[in-house]
Amino acid sequence: METKNKKAIVTGGTRGIGRAIVKELATNTSYKGVLSDVAFIYNKSDEAAQHLVNELKNSQTKVFAIKADVASFEETQRAISEAIEKLGGIDFLINNAGITRDTLLLRMSEKDFDDVIDANLKSVFNCTKAVLKNLVSQRSGRIVNISSVVALIGNPGQANYVASKAGVIGFTKSVAREVASRGITVNAIAPGFIKSDMTDKLTDEQKQKLVHNIPLGKIGTPENIAKMVAFLCSDDAEYITGQVFAVDGGLTM
Ligand code: NAP
Repeated sequence: METKNKKAIVTGGTRGIGRAIVKELATNTSYKGVLSDVAFIYNKSDEAAQHLVNELKNSQTKVFAIKADVASFEETQRAISEAIEKLGGIDFLINNAGITRDTLLLRMSEKDFDDVIDANLKSVFNCTKAVLKNLVSQRSGRIVNISSVVALIGNPGQANYVASKAGVIGFTKSVAREVASRGITVNAIAPGFIKSDMTDKLTDEQKQKLVHNIPLGKIGTPENIAKMVAFLCSDDAEYITGQVFAVDGGLTM
C-alpha cells in the first residue's frame, strides 16, 4: 500500500540547522511517518533558498521556499496560508528561525532586545497560531520548537537571546497542555554548540573554551538536531509531549 507524504513547514530553512531539518524531513525513510513535502520559510537568503529547492528536486517529495519575516504577525499569516495551500495541508510545524544580537546587558539597546524577542519568540507564537486551527480540526499534528541549552543554564552576553529561548520552553509546555486532547504534540529541542553561521561568528578562543566544557569533546552538527526533529515527528514519538530535549554532547548534564 502506498503511504502518502506528510506535510511540513520549517522556519529558517535556508541555512544551518533549519536546512538540515528540511533535508531530513524531505528524505527520511528510517522513521515511520516522517517523509514529508516541505514548505520552508526564510527571510533574506534568496540564493540559498533556491539552491536547497534545486538540491531536493529529485527527491520523492515536493519542497517549496516562501520568503517572509516570521517576526511579523501579518507576514507570517500570509506565508503560512500560502504554505498550507501549496502543501495541501499541514502535519508538522518546526519553529527553527532565530537570530542573535549578543552583548552585555549594560550595552544592550532596546532594539537588540526587541529584535531578538520578535525573531525568536514572537515568531513561534505567530507560526503556531497560524497552523493551530488546521491541526485542531484534523485532531493530529506535531510541533517542534528549537530552543537552546542556554535557556536552561543562562549565558553572559545573551540576556535577550536566553530570555527568548526560555520563553520558547514555557510556550511549548503551555501549548502542549492546551492541545494534547486534540492529538497534537508540542516539544522543544535545546541544541548545544552546533556548527552553523551563527556559531561561526565566535572567535577561535571562544570556540576552544566551549568545546573544553563539552563531555563528548566536539561541537555538534546540524544533522544531530535534524535527527531529533525527525524522531519527534515520527509515529514512534506519539506518547511524548511538553518535553525539552537537550542535544548538546553532554554539556548540560
Ligand atoms: P543560522 O545558521 O543563523 O540560520 C538562521 C535561519 O533562520 C536562516 O535560515 C534565516 O533565514 C532564518 N531566519 C532568521 N530570522 C528570520 C526571520 N525573521 N524570518 C524568517 N527566517 C528567519 O542559525 P542556526 O545556527 O542554524 O540556528 C537555528 C536555530 O537553532 C535558531 O533558533 C537558533 O537560535 C537555534 N540554536 C542554534 C545553536 C547553534 O549552536 N547553532 C544552538 C542552540 C540553538 P535567512 O538566511 O533567509 O535570513
